[in-house]
Amino acid sequence: SVMPATLSAISNGARRGILFKGGVHLENLGKIRAIAFDKTGTLTKGKPEVTDVMVRDDLSEEELLLHAASLEKYSHHPLAAAIVHYAVNKQGKPLIIPKNMEDVAGSGVQGSIEGHLWKVGNAGFVGREDAEQFREGIADELAKDGKTVVFVRDELGIAGLITLKDAVRCESADAVSSLHEEGLHTVMLTGDISQTAVVIAKESGIDSYYASCLPEMKVERLKELKRRFKTIAMVGDGINDAPALATATVGIAMGQGTDVALETADVVLMKNELPKIAEAIRLSKKMNRIIK
Ligand code: ADP
Ligand code: MG
Repeated sequence: SVMPATLSAISNGARRGILFKGGVHLENLGKIRAIAFDKTGTLTKGKPEVTDVMVRDDLSEEELLLHAASLEKYSHHPLAAAIVHYAVNKQGKPLIIPKNMEDVAGSGVQGSIEGHLWKVGNAGFVGREDAEQFREGIADELAKDGKTVVFVRDELGIAGLITLKDAVRCESADAVSSLHEEGLHTVMLTGDISQTAVVIAKESGIDSYYASCLPEMKVERLKELKRRFKTIAMVGDGINDAPALATATVGIAMGQGTDVALETADVVLMKNELPKIAEAIRLSKKMNRIIK
C-alpha cells in the first residue's frame, strides 16, 4: 500500500510540474549518486540552426541543399528539421521525392535521388576518412566551435557539409550546479563527436561526457556508470534515449520529448524544466526521511 507521505509527495511533485509514475521512483530519486543527460533536446534546446554550408567545387550550394533536404524531409531528427527549413528558405526548387529512404538512428539518412545514392549524416555514416579529408579537415575546426557537422555524400564522395548550432538551454548550467550541490556526479551522453560535446559540456558545467554514442552505446555507458555509482538517473527526450532511460535506476523524460521517451521514463518533467530535477531530489530525500 502507498504511504500517505508518498502520496502527498507525489501530488506535491505534480503541482510543481514533476510527474512521478509511482512512489518507488520518487523514493529512488533521493538515492541516486549520479545523473546522465542526453545532449540534444535535453541540455540544449533541440532547435539547431544551420550556420555554415560548404560544397565541393563541382556542385552549387543550392544543389547540395536540395538533395540533403529531400532526404532529411523523411527523418524525425531535430537536425533534419533544421536542414529542411533552411534549404526550403534558401533554394527555390521544390524538394525531390527520394526512393529507398532509410533513416539510420544515430547516424543519418540515405536514399536514392534520380537513380543516384545520397547520404546525409555524421562522419562514420558517410565514410570517416573521406569526411576527415574534406577541405583539409575543416570539419574538425567547425566542431571546435560547438557546431554539429553533417556531411553530404553522393556517388563521387563528400559533396559538402552543413553545420548546425544548437544553443544550450539557459537553465542548464543552473540545473547542473544545483545537482552538484546535492552531491551528484553529472555526465553527458551524446551521439555528437567529442569536439562538439566538450563545448556543450563546458557551457552546461557537466563533470564528464561520452561522445559518439550510438543508441546502444548510450545503454552500455549507462550500465558502466550504474556499476560505478550503483544508483543513477538518466534524463533524455529522444527515441534513441529510451533504452538508456529504461536502464537507469530512474529514467526522466523531458515533457516535450518523444512519445517513446515519455512512455519509458519513470518521471516526466512536464514543462521541460531541468531545475525541477534537483527540486524533486530534495522532495524525495525529505520523504525518505519521513517514511524511514
Ligand atoms: P544526440 O545524442 O545528440 O541526440 P543522435 O544519437 O540522435 O544524437 O545522433 C548522433 C549523430 O548522428 C548526430 O550528431 C548527427 O551527426 C548524426 N545524425 C543522426 N541523425 C541524423 C540526420 N537525420 N541527419 C543528419 N545527421 C544525423
Ligand atoms: Mg536528444
